[in-house]
Amino acid sequence: MGMAEKRISVVCPWCSVGCRFYIVNVNGYPKKIEFDYDHDIRNHGKLCPKGVAAFQHLRHPDRLKKPLKRVGERGEGKFKEISWEEAIKEIAQKLSEIKEKYGSEALAFLGSERCSIEENYVLQKLARALGTNNIEYVCRMCQSTAVAGKGMVLGHPGLTNPFEDILKAKVIVLWGYNPAATNPVFFGQYIEKAILDNNATLIVVDPRKTKTAKYADIHLQPYPGTDLAIALAMLNVIITEELYDKDFVAERAEGLEELAKTVEKYTPEWAEKVSGVPAELIRKAAITFATAGTAALLTNEGVNQHANGTRTVMAITEMMVLCGYFGKEGVMSGAIPGAHNGMGAGLMGIGPHELPGRFPLHAEEHKRRIEEAWGFKIPEKPGITYVEMIDAILEGKLKALYVMGTNPAKALPNLKKAEEAFKNIEFLVVQDIFLTETAKYADIVLPAAAWFEKDGTAISFERRVQRSFKAADAPGEAKPDWEILVMLAKELGFGEYFNYSDADDILREINRIIPPLAGATPERLKKNLKGCMIPCPDENTEVPRLFVQGFLTPNGKAQLIPVEYKEPGEVPDEEYPFWLTNYRFVGHFHTGTMSHRSKSLSKRWPEEYIEINENDAKRLGIKDGDLVRVETRRAALVLRAKVTPHIREGVVAAPWHWDFNYLTTDVLDEYAKMPELKTAACRISKV
Ligand code: SF4
Repeated sequence: MGMAEKRISVVCPWCSVGCRFYIVNVNGYPKKIEFDYDHDIRNHGKLCPKGVAAFQHLRHPDRLKKPLKRVGERGEGKFKEISWEEAIKEIAQKLSEIKEKYGSEALAFLGSERCSIEENYVLQKLARALGTNNIEYVCRMCQSTAVAGKGMVLGHPGLTNPFEDILKAKVIVLWGYNPAATNPVFFGQYIEKAILDNNATLIVVDPRKTKTAKYADIHLQPYPGTDLAIALAMLNVIITEELYDKDFVAERAEGLEELAKTVEKYTPEWAEKVSGVPAELIRKAAITFATAGTAALLTNEGVNQHANGTRTVMAITEMMVLCGYFGKEGVMSGAIPGAHNGMGAGLMGIGPHELPGRFPLHAEEHKRRIEEAWGFKIPEKPGITYVEMIDAILEGKLKALYVMGTNPAKALPNLKKAEEAFKNIEFLVVQDIFLTETAKYADIVLPAAAWFEKDGTAISFERRVQRSFKAADAPGEAKPDWEILVMLAKELGFGEYFNYSDADDILREINRIIPPLAGATPERLKKNLKGCMIPCPDENTEVPRLFVQGFLTPNGKAQLIPVEYKEPGEVPDEEYPFWLTNYRFVGHFHTGTMSHRSKSLSKRWPEEYIEINENDAKRLGIKDGDLVRVETRRAALVLRAKVTPHIREGVVAAPWHWDFNYLTTDVLDEYAKMPELKTAACRISKV
């Protein structure tokens, strides 16, 4: 029999850069990756180590191939195989029973930035058909503060400009963002070129001297979570030294007077005491930024994942507004989502306070429009957020959780508490490609197809919508997530609302319901593999630059809302004297469900370790490679020490992809309910 070889165009399943490449498939089996020079305008034929390894996990022996039913204790991971029919029947019956007995608010659903927009759309619709807005995804724990902060100041959270605009920026600020590790192709193809070829000045704000920071002209190394102090001091310098763009602010912003009064007290000298960064360096960074003429300011988890994250995002965004860095070429403002479809999932209404299109739940006009299209009512009461779900389970209010393609038993903060909740929940369903830490607690586990094993659409952090195509057969009886949800919807009696036969059907409904995606039709995305930048209100339109005509706030003006300083969720004291933070390896992704099962990645990045400044290590008698006990108020881990000059004294850091979250605190940001994942107080000792 001859070998049937096909080249199929796909979008990378890992980070949000959205690189495109071909999978070469032989008789349904993925054989190799080839670069797609024709359609990829983002990576120019380059891939990072994760991209090169993108299909290695697909045929891992751990792949789930049949539905499973728990036979052992929760968390033990003992299951028996059952049929799809049995699994779907049992889930529908149990969800209906719980709804009947405790009401719809006892049900909750978690979607995934790793699944397609179509799948997230179907999941939130199913939750609402069941009468609950308890629908969430992991953006709550990485981007929600950026969405809230940028939303309040600018009216839109998205990246403002296409990638190539950064090549014209005179100054680039990377704040709590290490793209050399998290978005390597964007770093290599755009940021590195802007710095090395076009002489852009680079300012980095990060407690660690990362690979990105090694390129910096100015490197500010604050204590984790004190970024807000630096942002307020930079606002102070920009305003008191009158470095702001007076015409732009007069015409396109409001609130300068109040903001100026508020930041008066936040001098660089004050910020030095709080953040540990010399006042003169803060002043220099502010002046360099404000006088550049064009600037890009990009933020990431180092800014977002704090209990003061929304305030920090607001202050940083207000720096951009004051300097008039919006609506033209050579500027860029944005917070970078971690996963390849973080932005897309959010736009589907997969939040407890949001409708599809990111309209607030109380936006009556949109609500009515969607209800008419769906044929059923959307529940009135806002749902609860991700971390609040854990408390609701422990309080006995939340009885059933349905988890699609995400791993909360590793991603949540204060993991011992989360594990307690998963042990005690009445009914837990997980659909995923592997038996994740969360799936081990489940009553029913459903085998899902991986990203390359189905058609689907994703939105990169550039706001670029792209179609990815099925490039391999799923193993055993695994099915695409949307297909599983449709089976369940039918069993629940909602068949008439979920009448989809493929991903295109779902995307067409999204085109009708979500105005910024009206023009991102299946036909357009299949014909133009480069995709389009949203909003694309019709098939001929896309919007490469946001805020050219004005901001997307109700009156079109940026809101310079005064922000006061607030400490991060936990700060060191005598008992726990070190600042603890975390970071990402270039070769791993999130909780490692896929990357830990990828041969080349797990070989090259096999384990976690804790970085300790060389002076701290000397003082504590710790040598490179020693085992060290790292303890917070919640738990302790034993990790190998990496003694380095590249982290500031008083701060220790470990990668996030393993057990880090046993150490973290679940204190929440007051606006976005983001947990304090980036900072905790800890003590360390040699084992
Ligand atoms: Fe994939 Fe991101 Fe690497 Fe591109 S940069 S290959 S999208 S992981």
